[in-house]
Amino acid sequence: MKITFLGTGTSQGIPVIGSNHPVCLSKDKRDKRLRVSILIEWDDSVYVIDCGPDFRYQMLRANVTKINGVLFTHEHADHVAGLDDLRPFSFQLGSVPIYAQKRVIEDLSYRFEYVFNDENKYPGAPSVQQNIIENNEFKLQNLSFLPIEVNHGSLKIFGYRFNNVAYLTDVKTINVEEKEKLKNLDILIINAIRYKPHYSHLNLAEALTLIEELQPRKTYLTHISHYLGFHAEVEKILPRNVFLAFDELVLEID
Ligand SMILES: [Zn+2]
Ligand SMILES: [Zn+2]
Repeated sequence: MKITFLGTGTSQGIPVIGSNHPVCLSKDKRDKRLRVSILIEWDDSVYVIDCGPDFRYQMLRANVTKINGVLFTHEHADHVAGLDDLRPFSFQLGSVPIYAQKRVIEDLSYRFEYVFNDENKYPGAPSVQQNIIENNEFKLQNLSFLPIEVNHGSLKIFGYRFNNVAYLTDVKTINVEEKEKLKNLDILIINAIRYKPHYSHLNLAEALTLIEELQPRKTYLTHISHYLGFHAEVEKILPRNVFLAFDELVLEID
C-alpha cells in the first residue's frame, strides 16, 4: 500500500494569502502546505480522503489519472470545497462513489445541490454515488475501513483505520471507546495545528500527549498552521518516531 500526502496545511493553507509571516515566506518546499488530504493506493484501487479546495491541483501534481472514490471526514470547506473538480473522474466513471456520514452527505447535497439533484441536470455537472456510512467497519474493494468517531469541537466527525494505519484529522478529543480502536497502530496520522490551544483542534502538546497514550510505532502530524513554525525547526523538537508530514511525502506500507 502507498499513502501520498496531497496536502498537510490547515484551512487557509500555507502560505496564507497576503501574509508576511516568515513561515509563509519560507523557501523550503516542505513549508508550502495545501489543504489536508491523502491518497491511498493498493492493488488497483485508488481512493482519496477529503476533497478540499486544492483538489484539482493535488490530482495534477500527484499525477492521479483515476480514482475509485472519495471518503469524507466531515463537511468543513477545507475538506469538501473541491467537489466540483470530481468532474473528470465523473466523466470516466459515470458517477464517483463518495462515502460519508448522513449529516455530511446532507450538508454536501445542500452546498452542491446541482451535483446531487438529478432533475434537469446540466450536462457538464459531476455526478456522485452516495454511500452513507455509520460507525461500523465497511469494505472498499478488498480492504476494510473502520471509522473512528472523534470530537472536532462539538462536531462528531470520522477518521479511518485501514490495515494498521489510522488517518485522523481535525481532532480535539477522542472518547475512550473510540481510542480502543487505535491500539497497535504501525502508523498514526493526526492533526497538530500550532502551539497555542484551539477550541476544535489539538495543539502540538495535546497531540503529543495523545500519541504517548496510543503508542503507535510511527506518527505523522498534519493539518498544520504557519504558527507551528518552520518544518526543519519543528522536526528537531519532536520525540523519536514522530514526524511532521509534508506535501508529496509518500509512505510505502507492506
Ligand atoms: Zn474541520
Ligand atoms: Zn480542517
